[in-house]
Amino acid sequence: MALLIDIKYPDWLTDDDLRSELLSYTPQADIRIGADPGNLDEIEMLTVSTYFPGEALKYPNLKVIQKTGAGVNNILTDDRLPESIQVLRLQTSTSGVEMAEYALAYVLQEQRHMRLYQRQQAASQWISYPPRRAEDTRVAVLGLGRIGQLVARRFVDNGFQVLGWSRSLKQVAEVSCYAGDDDLPTLVAAADYVVSVLPSTEQTRGMFRQELFAHFNSSALFINVGRGDLVNESDLIAALDDDQLAGAVLDVMSVEPLPPESPLWLHPGVQLTPHISGYHLGDAIADIAENYRRLQSGEPLLNPVNRELGY
Ligand code: NDP
Repeated sequence: MALLIDIKYPDWLTDDDLRSELLSYTPQADIRIGADPGNLDEIEMLTVSTYFPGEALKYPNLKVIQKTGAGVNNILTDDRLPESIQVLRLQTSTSGVEMAEYALAYVLQEQRHMRLYQRQQAASQWISYPPRRAEDTRVAVLGLGRIGQLVARRFVDNGFQVLGWSRSLKQVAEVSCYAGDDDLPTLVAAADYVVSVLPSTEQTRGMFRQELFAHFNSSALFINVGRGDLVNESDLIAALDDDQLAGAVLDVMSVEPLPPESPLWLHPGVQLTPHISGYHLGDAIADIAENYRRLQSGEPLLNPVNRELGY
């Protein structure tokens, strides 16, 4: 049995680097890399970040696809993915903490008018504005999973009023929790900041569209760290142009890398980053080695994805 690492995202993590790290946990393992996969019949576990439709079919005895992250939509949307293949994600609190930090950084930048002061400095202007108070500010966190709860906690710890939204109703300390589609318009209307930490599924794709933006508070900032295809980007631009919301911070786009011709690049209401809000995998790498061991011994694997739900 062999594990093939074929990440296809070398700016972030190379196959060789991940292989070395996995071998430190499991030195005897047959771990191969995309550039030299050997006999494809021997590959039973595949580790990817980028995944191409039909890729699983290259390996006749493939049993498991392990994603090097939390979002598995690029794998589950492959309509040629055999039913027998188990898809695993990583549960990484390291990148969750980074994503919480990212969202908080953009919120504090607005609370303290930092972008405005940068513009004023360029014009040699000395005008002061009162900081917005955290206790008077509502942050809605959409998605209360592993990462969403870390994001919500970070805002609670910084004194914000926090609202949370998920598919099934959750109980999270000091977070006002809501669930289901009916609650969403009221929730976004109440929020000064809307932070999306949702997965891309059949239910969530395209959910940020005109009908929902119409409920946003006109001074609200929308921060998306979940997945880009949740957003209808033309509707977002139209909503910003119509002042239905004040701005958007996008770490994820519907097409990545974002094509140079996308109007998002130059829109004054949009701040973009290249899918870096959650970056490091931290200790979660050990779970890939552990899953390799469990697959060999026939034990249940860590962090399986529910293919029906799509996350
Ligand atoms: P989880 O699977 O732990 O949680 C997903 C959350 O979304 C759950 O609370 C779930 O509800 C909720 N949800 C799913 N579908 C719906 C729906 N239709 N309506 C309302 N709520 C819904 O995921 P994580 O928290 O670990 O990760 C979230 C996403 O973050 C990933 O899927 C990935 O796309 C993205 N991500 C982005 C990164 C980046 O760098 N930008 C890095 C890592 C992840 P319930 O609790 O009821 O199941």
